[in-house]
Amino acid sequence: MTSGIITASYIAASALFIMALGGLAHQESARRGNFYGMLGMAIAVGVTIVGLVSNNYGLLVGGIVVGGIIGYILAQRVEMTSMPELVAILHSLVGLAAVFVGWANALEHAPLTGVAQSIHAVETYLGILIGAMTFSGSVMAYLKLSGKIGGRPLQLPGRHLFNIALGVIALYFMIQYMDTAATGGVFELTVMTIIALVFGVHMVAAIGGADMPVVVSMLNSYSGWAAAAMGFMLGNDLLIVVGALVGSSGAILSYIMCKAMNRKFLNVIFGGIGQKASSGGPAGPAGNAEDIRSVESDEAADMLLNAKEVMILPGYGMAVAQAQHTVFEITKKLRDKGINVRFGIHPVAGRMPGHMNVLLAEAKVPYDIVYEMEEINEDFPNVDVSIVIGANDIVNPAAQEVPDSPIAGMPVLEPWNGKQTIVMKRSMGTGYAGVDNPLFYKENTRMLFGDAKERLDQILKAIS
Ligand code: NDP
Repeated sequence: MTSGIITASYIAASALFIMALGGLAHQESARRGNFYGMLGMAIAVGVTIVGLVSNNYGLLVGGIVVGGIIGYILAQRVEMTSMPELVAILHSLVGLAAVFVGWANALEHAPLTGVAQSIHAVETYLGILIGAMTFSGSVMAYLKLSGKIGGRPLQLPGRHLFNIALGVIALYFMIQYMDTAATGGVFELTVMTIIALVFGVHMVAAIGGADMPVVVSMLNSYSGWAAAAMGFMLGNDLLIVVGALVGSSGAILSYIMCKAMNRKFLNVIFGGIGQKASSGGPAGPAGNAEDIRSVESDEAADMLLNAKEVMILPGYGMAVAQAQHTVFEITKKLRDKGINVRFGIHPVAGRMPGHMNVLLAEAKVPYDIVYEMEEINEDFPNVDVSIVIGANDIVNPAAQEVPDSPIAGMPVLEPWNGKQTIVMKRSMGTGYAGVDNPLFYKENTRMLFGDAKERLDQILKAIS
């Protein structure tokens, strides 16, 4: 295969990746976007194997087969609720690949001199650094998101100084490595790899509770930069372009997530520079037990039937209960009776960006009745019944009312401004951020305890 064909194929693959990102920006075009991405990847991998690889075919095919089988089994088995953990662990593999490529590149490469040698040393050093940070940070995020370790932020005394010290040492060894790279530089690379691994763990350990969405999107971004670094080390333009696309789109997503939570990016990443550290833990009950008013499914059904305006607010519990199909059945029945039913989606509802949109699309809920938080928050005074399905943090008024709450300042959906709210959950337990919710004690709130799917089935029966 000539280098011209390889370059043309790489340009085509890059264009397909850009079209994929464009497609993924809207629900209607997301399927098409995914297809473009898959086609681009097939071209990229195919052309690289046929045009660039010249030996070790057995190893290559073996790797693709084993990796493909593991990926297929994982994709078949993973629950929608475990998707963020899977994404986190997959990011760790990109980081690990960058570390291996970097080390291989450092230990064996064509002899270089002068500026070429310096450039090679810097790109190898940075590639391993970003890769190792991405690897250990992603493993830590996986452990947190899967609940294998607690979600509370680790706030070591002097943690900012610790981070700065790690950064200074890494910089010092990079300068050293530029001198020693020609003769090996194994010591400098080993120290830096350890520093980067420690930094990745510490950075993610310091972030907790409601800030985790930023971590997921930030690691997405890092994995892109790690891939771009690999592209520089291997002299592969397509890897540089793809890495930059993933890196920058992940960075934009992190920005959007920070905006959704009214947080400053640096505050999240560096564990609260310039702001009072919050405990991150439960603050105790937000009301008196006697203020909790519970209802049964048939009463909830009556409330819905007597309403003109209904707002459905889904959260992580709807995903756990897999209740989205029943929710849509209820929506259709109510709309047939002339009741205006809409959905309000918080940007960080669930456990991954767009989680609720994916579930509602799966249940075939029409897009034109699904609204973003900013679009509907002012409408709540006109809403007769809001029904909160397995959501907690995203409808927690403590974000506005309790200044030292771990979620203080985070924009939330405001169903309490409507006439009545039904909250569906199994207990008085807290949500992901571990903060009690004053909404449950409000006079116009009715708690409907139980598994969301079972309760919604009962409501559907009652209104049918
Ligand atoms: P929360 O985790 O705050 O609350 C979910 C609620 O669902 C729980 O309080 C639980 O209460 C209830 N629940 C669980 N299972 C069921 C069930 N089978 N039936 C009925 N209820 C159930 O979720 P939200 O969506 O409100 O908020 C998302 C949180 O996750 C935010 O803090 C966000 O920052 C964080 N996060 C978001 C990510 C993202 O990218 N979107 C990524 C990582 C974290 P009970 O146990 O009483 O039933």
